[in-house]
Amino acid sequence: MDGSAVPHFEQAASAACSMATKILAPVKTERQIYENSMLEDDPNGNSVITTNIKNFEDKSVPRWGPNHKGAQELANLYSTGKRTQECISVGICITLMAANSFFIVIRLRLENFGSIVIAALCGIITADFVSGLVHWAADTWGSIELPILGKNFLRPFREHHIDPTSITRHDFIETNGDNFMVTIPALCKLTWDFLTLSEPEIQQRFLWSCYWWQLAIFVAMTNQIHKWSHTYFGLPDWVVWLQEHRIILPRRHHRVHHVAPHETYFCITTGWLNWPLEKLRFWYVLETIIEISTGYKPRVDDFKWAQKRT
Ligand SMILES: [Zn+2]
Ligand SMILES: [Zn+2]
Repeated sequence: MDGSAVPHFEQAASAACSMATKILAPVKTERQIYENSMLEDDPNGNSVITTNIKNFEDKSVPRWGPNHKGAQELANLYSTGKRTQECISVGICITLMAANSFFIVIRLRLENFGSIVIAALCGIITADFVSGLVHWAADTWGSIELPILGKNFLRPFREHHIDPTSITRHDFIETNGDNFMVTIPALCKLTWDFLTLSEPEIQQRFLWSCYWWQLAIFVAMTNQIHKWSHTYFGLPDWVVWLQEHRIILPRRHHRVHHVAPHETYFCITTGWLNWPLEKLRFWYVLETIIEISTGYKPRVDDFKWAQKRT
């Protein structure tokens, strides 16, 4: 055997090892998480890792939580008009979801079960991606000063970074109103098709209907799932089971997003796409392209609100 093959093999093995170590390294270390995010699972600060907040920062001014001045200001911008929009959205969405679930369930055929499961899974993966895209866009661009959009739709994202626990105090309407609203057009279209198309046409499109149905359900449920990922006390056992089996966004997984400056792990439905998107540097590349082409810097407004501590 040629002796030079051995060093080559060793080189290749060590290169593969260092690549694997790099790829499998945690996106944020335990220390980064403890130093740069709010300890929601440890409200009394009993954590073994002592935080190392930089000396020049005044420790008496809250960095996160309901006492942060910026968070209080943002919470006060929640208006009656906004509440009305959320109540209407929840009512319409639940009605349409129930109708579509009925139309789908009565047409389920066991012989197509495999393809239906695949279509539904594709719907769930799309929902995870959409949650990431919308969350990234709202966190990274725009400002509270934008007309209509700012106070009504960007405000909760700003508030959530400086007081991540506020979501756990929001009721069902405030938590889910906006997500329920965005699914209404797709659910209307699905209902319309079920009511107007002939049975053979409905059967022909059935897999697409299953895809859109699951996509709509998971998009609608995204903020409820997100709220559960911030709830460290008193969750029902079945929710914890879904989190631990990674069917919905797990709590420890979502902590990676809450490490300042909140620049990764934006997907908040199942979280399945967070790791691959981070390894592809997807958000970073997208931000770089936008910054080069428009001149806007990412997260300027988010950073501004984080500074409003006094
Ligand atoms: Zn965020
Ligand atoms: Zn969160």
